[in-house]
Amino acid sequence: MTVLNALTVDVEEWYHICDAEPFIAPADWPSLPSRLMIGLDVLLADLAKAGARATFFVLGDAAARTPRAVPSILSAGHEIASHGCSHKQVYKMSPEEFEADLDRSVGILKEQGAGDVRGFRAPEWSIRPDSLWALDVLARRGFRYDSSIYPIRIIGMPAARPGLWRVSSGGGLKRAESPNTPQTAGPDSETPPLCKGRDGWGRCDRKTNLGSVPASTSPDPSLQRRGTEDGGTSTGNWALVEWTPPVRRIMGENVPFSGGLHLRLLPYKTIARWIRELNGQGVPALVYVHPWEMDPDPPRVQLGAVKRFVHYARIGAAREKLKQLLSDFRFAPIGAILDDLDPAALPEGPER
Ligand SMILES: [Zn+2]
Repeated sequence: MTVLNALTVDVEEWYHICDAEPFIAPADWPSLPSRLMIGLDVLLADLAKAGARATFFVLGDAAARTPRAVPSILSAGHEIASHGCSHKQVYKMSPEEFEADLDRSVGILKEQGAGDVRGFRAPEWSIRPDSLWALDVLARRGFRYDSSIYPIRIIGMPAARPGLWRVSSGGGLKRAESPNTPQTAGPDSETPPLCKGRDGWGRCDRKTNLGSVPASTSPDPSLQRRGTEDGGTSTGNWALVEWTPPVRRIMGENVPFSGGLHLRLLPYKTIARWIRELNGQGVPALVYVHPWEMDPDPPRVQLGAVKRFVHYARIGAAREKLKQLLSDFRFAPIGAILDDLDPAALPEGPER
């Protein structure tokens, strides 16, 4: 049996880099040259040649500046999902800011013909233990899947379960310890936010603001409904599917290999062997690339030494590695892969 792997693209400009404010301020973004279509056209041509389809997580700010990007992706038969709007890490936003940023991005993508936008990836994999509340926001806003958690140290959540898992109602939030988690319900919010009470995390009682209802035993009715609508079983109260990139456990560390710096640096044979091993167990891998990695001459932002290395080391290798992967493996958009899965049968996250 050939396993379908997920191919994903974070669609953003060369200057959409988290924490690059000392070098390039967001206020200056509109005056910088746009190179989005240069890398995107290269990527779309390579995918068309290989007959592969992918999920494109499009940044609202990039789509607003280059309105032909989304139609080009759609007309090539790919799936559109959201990468937020402002390229700010989720843990730097309040839940209200995050929801507004998310809504703004979806509005832009829909205006450009995207239809239903049901997948999300946070900038810099920024859903982690202190921002797991974002999974609840995504479920409540009707999202089907998220791919924003990286099971690695430094930028991610090393204890997270790699691969595909389901977030049951409140399941992502049971362990949330966010300082941003609101303790009172806003006057306009549809769903009471989570509060930590005697029995753990639960919905805030609007009158008492006590976390009197544990999230795990009394799921939000809107999350229940989502499970049913999407084919969840009668017992399935899952809210959202999460897909984290694969990692290899080497000397006590989770080592990534399917995107970014590691895809560019590791020998192709090693990457292919690890993906083949996963596929041999019937497990699909998730691969990710960026249009700026496909740009033959991307402008270099003067970042700090570590960030510069992570961002630009062997940048030209991304396209070559992807072309090899496209010839050796089968890929599909996340949405298409989920169509053939019963989320109720997936393991539950966020931890192993
Ligand atoms: Zn990004």
